Amino acid sequence: MLNKANEMDRFTLGPYSTSRSMDSAKVLVLNQTFEPLQVCGARRAVVLVFLGKAERVEDSTRVIRSPSMTFLVPSVIRLQRYIRKPAKPTIAFNKKNILKRDAHTCQYCGRNGGERMTIDHVIPKSLGGRTVWENVVSACRGCNLKKGNKRPWEVGMRLLRKPTKPHSSSYLGMLAHTSPHHESWRKYLPLEAEAPR
Ligand SMILES: [Zn+2]
Repeated sequence: MLNKANEMDRFTLGPYSTSRSMDSAKVLVLNQTFEPLQVCGARRAVVLVFLGKAERVEDSTRVIRSPSMTFLVPSVIRLQRYIRKPAKPTIAFNKKNILKRDAHTCQYCGRNGGERMTIDHVIPKSLGGRTVWENVVSACRGCNLKKGNKRPWEVGMRLLRKPTKPHSSSYLGMLAHTSPHHESWRKYLPLEAEAPR
């Protein structure tokens, strides 16, 4: 194993690679169950495949070379052993993150009010509305005032979109790397991660 790992140290980017550096080539790592786990660098992915710890699922168009071998860089790999997933880091439920989720945009009129946005309970607390991701939205002062302690439809207001709990940060991280280069990742990521917020 060690010798193999040393061999990997001598790998260099082949002539078929693009000008993007090796580090920028990201590989989606799937658990043994095909669940997406994380994103790693191309080099690490090739080492995992080389050592038999992972199998290639999708290939990229890149190549890396050692003095004696040429490897096609995968774009998706799958671990041979099941890795217990670390608990998903939950996104803190607070005003800052609610505004972030809604891109500091009033969810009634669409105005962007930056940090000066207020938080509105869609179903008012006085009517049993809960303080949860699904019932709070960013609202400008004007809309918040207009809506008062009513349900939106009672005052002729409509939400621009349904508030939901944000994706876990790990999926956001995968999404951040998703680009035309990673078209091959799409079918392994949950549907929700495909729709940028
Ligand atoms: Zn508004």
